[in-house]
Formats: sequence, structure tokens, C-alpha cells
Amino acid sequence: MAIELPPLPYAREALEPHISAETIDYHYGKHHQAYVTNLNNQIKGTELEDAPLEAIVRKAQGGMFNNAAQVWNHNFYWMCLSPSGGGAPGGKLGEAIAKAFGSFDAFKEEFTKLSLGTFGSGWGWLVQRPDGSLGLVSTSNAATPITGEDTPLLTCDVWEHAYYIDYRNARPKYLEHFWNLVNWEFAASRLK
Ligand code: MN
Repeated sequence: MAIELPPLPYAREALEPHISAETIDYHYGKHHQAYVTNLNNQIKGTELEDAPLEAIVRKAQGGMFNNAAQVWNHNFYWMCLSPSGGGAPGGKLGEAIAKAFGSFDAFKEEFTKLSLGTFGSGWGWLVQRPDGSLGLVSTSNAATPITGEDTPLLTCDVWEHAYYIDYRNARPKYLEHFWNLVNWEFAASRLK
């Protein structure tokens, strides 16, 4: 049972003008696809060959972990974006964000700061902790909250390959545009 590249939940040009179809072609079509291909080559003939993706992420080490975690992180990232995204969440998620960060604007500022401050390649995350509260986490390279106890609600990929075609080296510009795409319905659906 091979690990598959999930179909994108929208058309390749649907996130424009914030994320271009060309970025999708490379980020989804080349980078994400390569993690899937590499992972399938690495699990072949091992005890993890038929394991679900999350189990591989939790058990694998080294190169196999890097590819498996990057497949999971990217599957999750594409779900966090939507052509009809943006704005601020209402309901339980809106309340939980206000409780944890004071206000939505304060949350946005802290999440942006954390993502911009992630050194090199990595990910910014909004997570729900086991006690139900919300928090922010920055991970390096392929590292992912699902190896611990936090439940990821939202992520921003801050690897350069996520923004170099559209914004060159300007990670802050990419972050500004990211907020127009956030799929709050998806994030809210992850709340426990
Ligand atoms: Mn990426």
C-alpha cells in the first residue's frame, strides 16, 4: 500500500494572487511529490511498508522520518489554505484564540513573528495542547507537532520553496498574503 499524494482541494490557480499557480506546480507538483516518491522508496520492504502515514512519522528516523513528516506537513498545509479563506474565525476557535492570546490581532501578530523568526527552513504552527488550551510552536526542517502530544490546528510552511517564486526572499510578504488564505473552517474542525 503506497503512500499517495492527495489531490489538492482547489485548482492550481485558485490561490492567486497570493500564491501563484507556478508556486503550486513546484511546491505541490515537485517538492511534495518528491517527498511522497522518496518515502515510498524508503518504506519498501521494511516493517513500515503498509503502515499509515501518521504511524510512519511517529516511528521512522533519519531520512525516512524527514520524508514522512514532510508528506504529512504538506498534506496538512494545503488543507489550511482556501481560495475563500482569510478573515477571522468565530465560534469556539475564535473564543479559544481570544482566551489564549488576548485578541485575534494579537494572535496574528505572534504567529507572524514566530513564523518570520523560524531560522532557516521550518514551520509555524497553532496547536491545541492536551489541556485544551492553544499555543504556538515553531519547528525546524521536517519536525512536526504530531510526534508529541499537541494537536496541530493551523500551519504556515516557511521553507523558501513556499514563497521564493512569488516573493523571492521576502518571507514577510508571503506571511502577509498567507492570512488572506487561511481556512478557518478546517482549523476549527481540528479542535478537540
Ligand atoms: Mn513546503
